Amino acid sequence: MYIVDLHSHSNVSDGNLNPDDLISYAAEKNVDMIALTDHDDISGLDLARKKAEELGISFINGVEISVTWRSRTIHMLGLNFDPNNQNLIKGLERIREGRIERAKKIAYGLAMVGIPNAFEGAKSFASHQVIGRIHFAHYLVSKGYSKNIKSVFNKFMTKGKPGYVEHQWASLEDAVGWIKNAGGIAVIAHPGRYDMGKKLYPQFFQEFKNFGGGGIEIISGSQSLNQIDYFADFAQQFDFFGSIGSDFHGHGVSHRDLGPLHKLPEKIKPIWNQFTQTS
Ligand SMILES: [Zn+2]
Ligand SMILES: [Zn+2]
Repeated sequence: MYIVDLHSHSNVSDGNLNPDDLISYAAEKNVDMIALTDHDDISGLDLARKKAEELGISFINGVEISVTWRSRTIHMLGLNFDPNNQNLIKGLERIREGRIERAKKIAYGLAMVGIPNAFEGAKSFASHQVIGRIHFAHYLVSKGYSKNIKSVFNKFMTKGKPGYVEHQWASLEDAVGWIKNAGGIAVIAHPGRYDMGKKLYPQFFQEFKNFGGGGIEIISGSQSLNQIDYFADFAQQFDFFGSIGSDFHGHGVSHRDLGPLHKLPEKIKPIWNQFTQTS
């Protein structure tokens, strides 16, 4: 069986393995083709690619871009793009700057309820420059404000709580544009996590299609496998390629391991067939 995994994270964003260690682990799990898709940052790709070449695994350049669509946060993957494309590099830079602003606002909210130094604290848990809510969560647990990551989110990080901030990420149009401009394919990550309902999903996919979106992640480690048919139908309706990704973040922090999750339904065109000429 040819094992494909087109969604994974290293410690360049919120995973806990170095990019090259992630690839070594993928080799251990017999993965044949892998994409590293760190949040809003592509600085791990070189290291990962080198390791993949050494170990004989097909490596696909990837990124997971944070997008705001009708005040919802959507994750969009870019796959198989040119990582030297200036347009994309600048776009991602802007999102990361926004992330720092957001982190400062989160820290301010936490300071207001008597939790000091959360920005520096969260930063100390981030290996690279991407600071996410998970790093705040680790900091709060380490200081004893909560007993585990899940309860931190419930107590501090969700809507209405002191560490929650509304944030404007990239627009869907910009994000798709950057990936297309860099020669890649834009894919909606874990579509089952957005809870849009029967009315909004078709509108969302139609807009994504109109901007030039190419695929959806029909099988994801961070959504229920019961949703496969639901999203396979949308893929057919809008003529999207289907993708598969574990959304692996490292040992002990992921829903699922790297490697095989489930096969794509027969009727769906696998996105990785598009990559074979270029990888
Ligand atoms: Zn995601
Ligand atoms: Zn992810």
